[in-house]
Amino acid sequence: MRHSAKVTRTKRWKALRQEALRRDDYQCVQCGARACRLEVDHILPVRDRPDLSYELSNCQVLCSSCHARKTRLEIGFPDISPERRKWRDFLEDTPPCCKA
Ligand SMILES: [Zn+2]
Repeated sequence: MRHSAKVTRTKRWKALRQEALRRDDYQCVQCGARACRLEVDHILPVRDRPDLSYELSNCQVLCSSCHARKTRLEIGFPDISPERRKWRDFLEDTPPCCKA
């Protein structure tokens, strides 16, 4: 279970997530991708700063690959398999641009 799961399941987070996407203009703040798979990341991880879980200033929009890279660095995992990533992406919220 990811540390942020408790937060990202809430209605409050879903609203904040939309705000972050709007603020960052629906593009990855790191590589500028307007990929279909955009995720809203906690700049300071929830497990370190749970008090910042719902701070818009602690949120940034990342595409799935930038997000995966950041998360890997945070957890110290060498890599995750494509199958695991696919499954994880599947569990993430679908951004509005994917809801056709
Ligand atoms: Zn990116």
